[in-house]
Amino acid sequence: MGSTTVQVCTTVMHHGFRIVGDMIDGLTNYLDERGLASVNDLIGQTVPRFVDWNDLNLDYAVVARIDPESCIRCNKCYIACEDAAHQCIDRPADPLLAPVVDEEHCVGCNLCAMVCPVQDCITMVRTDAGDTVHTWRERLSVPS
Ligand code: SF4
Ligand code: SF4
Repeated sequence: MGSTTVQVCTTVMHHGFRIVGDMIDGLTNYLDERGLASVNDLIGQTVPRFVDWNDLNLDYAVVARIDPESCIRCNKCYIACEDAAHQCIDRPADPLLAPVVDEEHCVGCNLCAMVCPVQDCITMVRTDAGDTVHTWRERLSVPS
């Protein structure tokens, strides 16, 4: 969006300062994969995608899905959703079973997917048909 700095806090508390080296490696790989020479090439890239929140599609629906095959049962997703999101991940009584997302109440905030240590174990899946658009602007008759 135009910022030239990035600030992190919780991840350093959680992983220690070594996470900064991992972030630099990850960012370097990201730039290499896209053929970008400098992080400066990223600055402002999202500006064209910015929309007023009044114009967001309220019908857009996405939920988290957990792959029980790759899940290592660490329960990080459960704690994140329970303490910081919508309390919609259920932990089976049997600890050998993977947590399960209550899709009816999941709001698709993506927090569980961000804390999951296993790549692609939690995927965000779009669940609406994608053929309707309703916005707050329409609902509240807000002028453009
Ligand atoms: S996407 Fe958000 S609300 Fe849905 S299960 Fe994950 S943390 Fe909970
Ligand atoms: S954070 Fe990922 S690996 Fe850990 S329990 Fe949840 S889905 Fe499984």
